Amino acid sequence: MKFEKVVRGRIVTPAGEFPGEIGISDGVIAEIAEGRDTLEADEIHDFGKDFVFPGFIDTHVHCYSNPNEGIRRASQAAARGGITTFLDMPYDLPNPVSNGDILKEKIKTINDEAVMDIALWGTVPKEDGPQVVAELADLGVAAFKLSTFETDPYRFPRISDADILETMKLTAEKGQVIAFHAENDELLTQYMDKAQAEQNIEPIYHNLTRPPVTETTAVIKLLDMASWADAKLHIVHVSHARSIDYINWFKSNGTNVTAETCYNYLLLDTDDLKEHGPKAKINPPLRDPHEVAALEEKVMEGEIDFITSDHAPWQKEHKTIGNEDIFKAKSGTPGLEIMIPLLFDHLVGRKSMSLNQFAELLATAPARRFNLGRKGSIEKGRDADLTILKDKTRWIIDEDDFISVADVSPYHGHEVDNRVEAAFVRGKVVYTHEDGVTDEVSGRFVRPDEGGGQG
Ligand SMILES: [Zn+2]
Repeated sequence: MKFEKVVRGRIVTPAGEFPGEIGISDGVIAEIAEGRDTLEADEIHDFGKDFVFPGFIDTHVHCYSNPNEGIRRASQAAARGGITTFLDMPYDLPNPVSNGDILKEKIKTINDEAVMDIALWGTVPKEDGPQVVAELADLGVAAFKLSTFETDPYRFPRISDADILETMKLTAEKGQVIAFHAENDELLTQYMDKAQAEQNIEPIYHNLTRPPVTETTAVIKLLDMASWADAKLHIVHVSHARSIDYINWFKSNGTNVTAETCYNYLLLDTDDLKEHGPKAKINPPLRDPHEVAALEEKVMEGEIDFITSDHAPWQKEHKTIGNEDIFKAKSGTPGLEIMIPLLFDHLVGRKSMSLNQFAELLATAPARRFNLGRKGSIEKGRDADLTILKDKTRWIIDEDDFISVADVSPYHGHEVDNRVEAAFVRGKVVYTHEDGVTDEVSGRFVRPDEGGGQG
């Protein structure tokens, strides 16, 4: 049998890693074979000894926190970073994805502009929130994201406990995951007000006004509510090991809960916040080195379900405004283009994580959690989404060289020892190191359950 394309390399599958070939037809993985020269095709992509991973999935991206970014650029940045599917967050400027019309518009933008596949988060408005759940779920959001902390009363509101509980029940009825930005609004607002009143505005005060208790108290409340509501709970960007201990207790007692951490919480700490100031300002904040080590242990032990970038494409003006007063800078860092190489160096290179665990954390588990059944794993019948990583090749991160409009990164000047060599989305080459990223709009909106290909 002849395939449209064959991809050769060291293939990372759930059954193990081996030198082999993947036969692709109609954008789908049609065959997987060990060894070389066993499969026939008109088009052969031979990656030698490079790793062939399932296309990586980033479930936490903010395309429109800064509208200068948008779907087209973010999708090209993702392709270059080896991310073949991402889930875009709902807190868009000017309008959050909290009703059907806005959602339909965003789906259209994806189908008109994306170079790789994108699924969407929905959210609920501050008033009468629960009423939008059914419509957004039926239109195809992958999950719902809410916050216990108010970034902006319209775009990124704090939702009341009563509405959280009601929304949890409604998302459970729809079989959908409900995720939370978990920080205790009352505590940290008071801490921030006090720090600012006392002119304590150096970078470290971003950490000191958001101590671990501001995260853990929010997490434990949500866990308890989710257990009463029978909800499928997900906690985004966990920054502290104690949150994971609470999550594990509820998990072992039957609550349907998962958690992610973000790459920054594993690679940076409070010393970076002091050194880089606004560039390293994220919410929740970077933690002390011993807390970072404890969180990393949770990742290595398999106690954290997956890792995301929390890509926020801020530009210099959004960050330098905080040079004198950390509270004035925007929160977040870009991640789509650099997360995979940085994590591969750290987790596989330095910590000897297995290739399978790396694939689980960055592709398989996120696809499973959000019902993207055609994504996340190199198996026959799934979409031919593949990311090729070349190990032991050096380059230096340059914040002025991103495809993303983001031009500030705490990793600027950081040396990396592997790179994304190529990325395939449903069998189509969307990026190669040699030729760069495609201009062709071949990405699609992805609905849960059905996976790729749903327009
Ligand atoms: Zn986020």
